Amino acid sequence: MKVECVSCGHELNLDHWVFDDYEGSVKCFFCSRIMEVKTAKGIVYSISPPAITESKRNPALAETGD
Ligand SMILES: [Zn+2]
Repeated sequence: MKVECVSCGHELNLDHWVFDDYEGSVKCFFCSRIMEVKTAKGIVYSISPPAITESKRNPALAETGD
């Protein structure tokens, strides 16, 4: 099966029996991004970014309300 890197969009080929029922981290060989991948019966169940909490602050919108 193939999964698409959440970071660079590169297709990762997971054609291996190990990945038929797999739950864990997969490293993109292209950009070295690590993703959490869940597969079941040879089908990709979910792909999510790594559990690295990046502190993203919502930019305060400038309010024009005098
Ligand atoms: Zn990548």
